[in-house]
Amino acid sequence: MSQSRNLPSTILIIGSGVFGLGTAYALAQRLEYRNTKITLLDRLDFPAQDASSIDSSRIVRPDYPDAAYSKLASQARKYWRREWGADGRYTESGLCLLLDETDQNNGRDYMDKSLENVRDKLGLKVGRREEGGKITVLNDLNDIREVIKGMDGDLGRCGYVNWTSGWAQAEDAMKYLRTLVEETGRVEFQRAELKQLLFKNGDSVEGAELTSGEKVTADLTVLATGAWTPKFLDLRGIASASGQILTYLDLTQEEQDRLGSNPSILNESNGMFIIQPSNRVLKVARHGYGYANPTTIPHPERPESGEKITVSLPRTKTDDPNVNVPPEGGKACRDFLARYLPDLADRPFTHTRICWYTDTPNSDWLIDYHPKYKGLFVTTGGSGHAYKFLPIIGDRIVDVLSGKDRNQFGAELRKKWQWPKQKFRQDHVWTDDWRGGRKGMILDEELTRAKL
Ligand SMILES: Cc1cc2nc3c(=O)[nH]c(=O)nc-3n(C[C@H](O)[C@H](O)[C@H](O)COP(=O)(O)OP(=O)(O)OC[C@H]3O[C@@H](n4cnc5c(N)ncnc54)[C@H](O)[C@@H]3O)c2cc1C
Repeated sequence: MSQSRNLPSTILIIGSGVFGLGTAYALAQRLEYRNTKITLLDRLDFPAQDASSIDSSRIVRPDYPDAAYSKLASQARKYWRREWGADGRYTESGLCLLLDETDQNNGRDYMDKSLENVRDKLGLKVGRREEGGKITVLNDLNDIREVIKGMDGDLGRCGYVNWTSGWAQAEDAMKYLRTLVEETGRVEFQRAELKQLLFKNGDSVEGAELTSGEKVTADLTVLATGAWTPKFLDLRGIASASGQILTYLDLTQEEQDRLGSNPSILNESNGMFIIQPSNRVLKVARHGYGYANPTTIPHPERPESGEKITVSLPRTKTDDPNVNVPPEGGKACRDFLARYLPDLADRPFTHTRICWYTDTPNSDWLIDYHPKYKGLFVTTGGSGHAYKFLPIIGDRIVDVLSGKDRNQFGAELRKKWQWPKQKFRQDHVWTDDWRGGRKGMILDEELTRAKL
């Protein structure tokens, strides 16, 4: 059991993504916080279109090599199957994990351990779907073709489908959560942009200074600014923003009918994935090492000192409407299409986007009080996999914030998410987790290649 703390009379949450909005909801529901004033601010009107929690889809899967996330995802899925997933917010169409002959990215290890977890720890039955199997193991291309219809390309060499996985309509489910929070009547929402945290005496934080110049004080400040967080705290060696590619194509009705009942597909050898097409839109993307966007800024904890640091920060269409996926990323999606769906290889993208992960070196989230600054709680480090936990993540965050482990599993999670004892890497290759794409790409270099 960790220590319980005095209850704050004011809590200021900054950032309205999965982590921030989830925290607000859980706080608003807990009786012990009934006298606490809760304020949630975000730099953009909700839903912030460049936030990583806002998109047409996010995969919901318990297929993790790490048993703790696998268990947590299966807990969240219970909610997706009920009200959270109603009105098209969740579709349980399965997720097909595939491997190629060549696999240089530890994809096999990731897949084998994931399979072991869902089969042995979650107890999902292996077998053909028609015979009640929840997991169908695919031993060759013929097996793969049996579960993925209407795709004649070279789909891979082996893999498995988890029929209990699916995908969420990400923006719609965030709007659903926002309504739930509004209905509590407990949270004051503000559109306002954090300029810097209000540090005091080098050992505490007492709120936020906004770009408007206004200062908002609070007993407890919860920083949930996603990939922008390294702008407000020195997180070098702890967390960093990595840009990930997303492309969207329009389908004809015939193509939608042909492909629309397939599971989503994740190729573990190169990180490329295709979400089950919906409403005649196909999304092709990559779970990759991503692009770093090194940016030199005043030291966020000592802005008056003149000291500067260089960190990777998001660059989105809010900053520059012309920021699209660089040619390298567009080509990766085109090559994947040419291989999986040759007839769509030349279909123009209707739009593209770089979406920003907050990567930690081992992909564990960062949910903890800051070790140096009293009054500051940080909840971030989604590392490209936090969305699926939307229905339950806030409760887990508030468990940590309240210093209460509800059980052994809670204690295990708290330990996983605690502030790291040492700093890791600073080299723009931000994860040891399994990923696709090249390591160490710099956004500006890749965008410049476009001009050349
Ligand atoms: C391309 C992509 C694919 C993904 N796929 C999946 C998936 O299939 N399954 C899955 O489970 N997860 C997936 N994820 C991960 C998941 O979406 C993220 O882990 C999660 O959304 C992170 O939420 P967040 O609250 O940390 O960040 P965000 O949603 O980005 O929220 C941060 C908020 O902070 C606000 N903010 C920033 N700066 C300021 C400021 N100065 N002042 C005020 N507000 C500020 C922003 O406007 C934003 O609203 C994916 C992520 C990406 C990018």
